[in-house]
Amino acid sequence: MKKVGLTRSIHLKFVLIYVLLILLAMQIIGVYFVRELEQKLVENFQSSITNRVELLEYTIKEEMVKEREDDDPTQEEDIRRILEDSSKNSDIAEIRVIDNRKRIIGTSDPNNQKLVNRVTSDKDVKRVLALGVTSENTYVDNQTHDRIWVHAKPIESNNEVIGAIYIVGEIERVYDQMNDINKIFTNGTLIALFITAILGVLLAQTVTRPISDMRKQALAMAKGNFSRKVKVYGYDEIGQLAITFNNLTKRLQEAQATTEGERRKLSSVLSYMTDGVIATDRKGRVILINDPAASMLNVSRETVVSQPIVSLLGLEEGYTFDDLSNEQESIILDYSTKDKPYVLRANFSIIQKETGFVNGLIAVLHDITEQEKIDLERREFVANVSHELRTPLTTMRSYLEALAEGAWQDESIAPQFLDVTQNETERMIRLVNDLLQLSKMDSKDYRFNKDWVDFILFFHKIIDRFEMTKNINVTFQRFLPEKALFVELDQDKITQVLDNIISNALKYSPEGGTITFKVKEKDGYIEISVSDQGLGIPKENLEKIFERFYRVDKARTRQMGGTGLGLAIAKEMISAHGGDVWATSTEGKGTTIIFTLPYEVEQEDEWS
Ligand code: ATP
Ligand code: MG
Repeated sequence: MKKVGLTRSIHLKFVLIYVLLILLAMQIIGVYFVRELEQKLVENFQSSITNRVELLEYTIKEEMVKEREDDDPTQEEDIRRILEDSSKNSDIAEIRVIDNRKRIIGTSDPNNQKLVNRVTSDKDVKRVLALGVTSENTYVDNQTHDRIWVHAKPIESNNEVIGAIYIVGEIERVYDQMNDINKIFTNGTLIALFITAILGVLLAQTVTRPISDMRKQALAMAKGNFSRKVKVYGYDEIGQLAITFNNLTKRLQEAQATTEGERRKLSSVLSYMTDGVIATDRKGRVILINDPAASMLNVSRETVVSQPIVSLLGLEEGYTFDDLSNEQESIILDYSTKDKPYVLRANFSIIQKETGFVNGLIAVLHDITEQEKIDLERREFVANVSHELRTPLTTMRSYLEALAEGAWQDESIAPQFLDVTQNETERMIRLVNDLLQLSKMDSKDYRFNKDWVDFILFFHKIIDRFEMTKNINVTFQRFLPEKALFVELDQDKITQVLDNIISNALKYSPEGGTITFKVKEKDGYIEISVSDQGLGIPKENLEKIFERFYRVDKARTRQMGGTGLGLAIAKEMISAHGGDVWATSTEGKGTTIIFTLPYEVEQEDEWS
């Protein structure tokens, strides 16, 4: 999480504003207070000196106008005594008395006694003597650089200026005092600032802490963590905000959970559907494709997103996106290759707002390969059945026509013709029986009549029957175990299977050939094989011989009376017994048909 820089933090701003406000207040108070105080102190100082001067004026005037006897002290001595008494005040630096002839007749400063009886050069004094007015001035002492306040006042008697009092006040003391007060004030301000800064920090914290808490929570929420809660410190506006924020978090979490749930539901519906679903935006670019659709089209979901749907379905040549949007019927997408049929059916529907605005398109893909295959097989089956029935019927019709046209009277041909029609009829009956049997097996409730049978004995009997009735010169060779192998089977059905396999072997065996019968005991099953030395079956047809109506060489087999249903029936029956059947063959050398039946080695129990 990015931290807010100190300079940008509300915390610092708070403290800064606080401190600045205090500083400003102190400054305003300070400036006003100091100025007023200074003025007051200066006024006090001046009025105290003025009062003293007035008092002094009176005493000195008395001394100056007094009639003196010879034994009286001189005027100078009297004045010096008065001045000595008066200058005991620390605010006064010096007092001088000057007569109307500008002669200094007394000074309070003991170091300046030599000035006595000299003529003064002071401008203020001269002015006071000449004009009879009081003068007040502040000067800076040349030696000490201190400020001094000079007050000169005329001494009047009978409206006549008889002299002047000149007094120097040490006003610098007032300013020194002011400096001390200023210092105290500054210190006080600094202490106040320090304390308010600390208070400001604490106060700001009460505001910023919940805010920064909320900020942290908002960041956590953005990352999907809703477990945090803002601490509520009080019930002021910020506290209310924190409570509202917590409520908001809860609502958001609920909303998020609902959306997430909906999304998950939708995505699981989409991915568990067997149909493929593709959604596009209104420009026809893929925005969603579910797993089945991706695997049907053999693409990865990530790469096809935002690809145009027409090119994804390989329809660029015949269709535009608008065509697909307006397509009412389903479109058949034939992706079959030479080796593998692969057909999809696509249905399109537009996503439309209530206003009629088209938002996109949804395509639903359905794999109809199997259905198409079944359809094709059914069509082929019907064609095959009709064909197989028509052949014997046409033969019969021509023979019966010949008989009807008079051949029945010819004793040399009639029996032969009747023989043929009889054969054809039997062939048809066989065919229809086979078909009936297949259709019965196709229906679910086909039952087997199973018994525990010693398969070896059972097999020997069947081979014996063929050996006795065979009408060509073939040798039978048996490799069967000596011991009995008990297998649970439906005797009629397995007899039918073996009849077909052996009669095929006989059909395709050359004169003087050998047919080999083998039974092998394997783990959990027995393996039965019948091998001949006939012309064999091409490798690519080895699996097809088990399909209905399939014959390697139609013309030749029909001549031999086959319909191509025997092995198909055999396969169904064997698999109904839980076994398997297959063929191996070397062209020109012979064929082996092998099938298995489940077999468990008997446990020795107490009865045996
Ligand atoms: P049906 O058995 O119904 O009378 P069929 O014998 O022609 O007719 P299947 O037994 O299903 O039919 O055999 C299918 C085809 O497999 C035969 O037409 C033949 O082409 C081939 N086939 C079966 N067994 C052999 C074999 N032992 N040697 C060579 N080809 C065989
Ligand atoms: Mg056959």
